[in-house]
Amino acid sequence: MAGQYKVVINEKWCKGCGLCVAFCPKNVLVMGERLKAEVKYQENCIGCRRCENYCPDFAIIVEEAERVG
Ligand code: SF4
Ligand code: SF4
Repeated sequence: MAGQYKVVINEKWCKGCGLCVAFCPKNVLVMGERLKAEVKYQENCIGCRRCENYCPDFAIIVEEAERVG
């Protein structure tokens, strides 16, 4: 059931605080080289929306991926 959720990070708004990385229970997110959060293991996302809720800068949105096929 890969790809049920899609985590979208707005790099312009991300200030690199790392909260989303710390709170994600599935280690979906990592800090990138430029100190911006990046979605690394999208397929592990369970859609809990912690990242979205904890991000102080509203830089993350968790979308329900559209059903394909
Ligand atoms: S919705 Fe939950 S599992 Fe998915 S990236 Fe955010 S914190 Fe991690
Ligand atoms: S919580 Fe928000 S501002 Fe902080 S690293 Fe994650 S996306 Fe960037």
